[in-house]
Amino acid sequence: MNRLSSCHNIDQSWLALTARCNCHCVYCYYSHSLGTRSMSLQAAQSVIDLLLELGIEHCALVGGEPTLHPDLLPLIRYSSQKGMKVSIVTNGRRFADLRLCEEAIEAGVDRVSISIEGTTPSIHEKITQQSGSYRDTSSALRNFLSLGFHVDAITTICTSNQYNLYAMVDYLIDLGMKDAVFNLCTPSVAGLQSGEVLEPEAIAEILDRLMSYRPNDIRLTVVTPFPPCLVESAGFRERAGTCQMHHGNGVTIDVDGSVLPCTHFSQASLFNIFDEDRTISGREFLRQWELNGGNFRDSLWAYPSEKCIDCDLWFRCYGGCPLFWTEYDLNAIHQKTKSGQQSHGSDD
Ligand code: SF4
Ligand code: SF4
Repeated sequence: MNRLSSCHNIDQSWLALTARCNCHCVYCYYSHSLGTRSMSLQAAQSVIDLLLELGIEHCALVGGEPTLHPDLLPLIRYSSQKGMKVSIVTNGRRFADLRLCEEAIEAGVDRVSISIEGTTPSIHEKITQQSGSYRDTSSALRNFLSLGFHVDAITTICTSNQYNLYAMVDYLIDLGMKDAVFNLCTPSVAGLQSGEVLEPEAIAEILDRLMSYRPNDIRLTVVTPFPPCLVESAGFRERAGTCQMHHGNGVTIDVDGSVLPCTHFSQASLFNIFDEDRTISGREFLRQWELNGGNFRDSLWAYPSEKCIDCDLWFRCYGGCPLFWTEYDLNAIHQKTKSGQQSHGSDD
């Protein structure tokens, strides 16, 4: 085991390579104050080295849109040769070019996650605000599948696609995919109002129905943690995730070297890994991670609802994604809903 890996809990990292993007998604949480800034190849390699020094072996390249970075392939090659498992989270538009898909695989990419927001151009492009993006993204999915490569399709559940979700599951099954992965559109840390965030009660109803749709044909995953007590489906309860910020299980490095507790915290930097023309050491990173991140993580442990205090699921749930409770009141929802009353200390 790497010496420094025993000093922290981080096992996943996200690296924002560029702030540029060729879509303009209505609910984008990424700060556009960074304009078109990109990280140089040398700086990105030093981040990979730092992550490896810390014993972190998984890095997802994000943005902006990471495929717009001119040195995407050299960085994947560098990282994979050093033993880092590199994935790409992308809108897929540049992967409409089959050759780029082949080159990324050849360079050593471990996994590709492509965001698809609707099964028709009108729904998808209402969200991405870029005409032609549906054609590109669906081609990208087909390209990777034709190469026999494991690709994920990720759909962010929001106001504009809430009635298109069964169709999305059908679409993915028809493509031959084994997994359907869903995100939830959450309130923005910066307070941006997109009109795309669904109320938690509406999300609960959607998830309840979705979990029982064609369960034998595809595996459904909801990656944004959401309180299982609000969803009746037992299948959802077993698979509900946990916010990685509570234990500091993940770290995001933004394009300017800012260290963020989660990709959604663009502009809410804990500290910076670039110190003039050098990248800080693993030990210095850990010192600042504790100093600047410890208080922030402690603040997350406040119960979002009285019902959580005695709930047996607390240590698996922590109330779901805390971003929801910056805008909604979980306590009030629990008081209104039957499922909330049942969850109070009665989980078996
Ligand atoms: S911990 Fe809270 S939010 Fe999570 S299931 Fe229990 S009562 Fe619901
Ligand atoms: S706040 Fe936690 S649960 Fe929500 S998106 Fe960030 S890491 Fe995920």
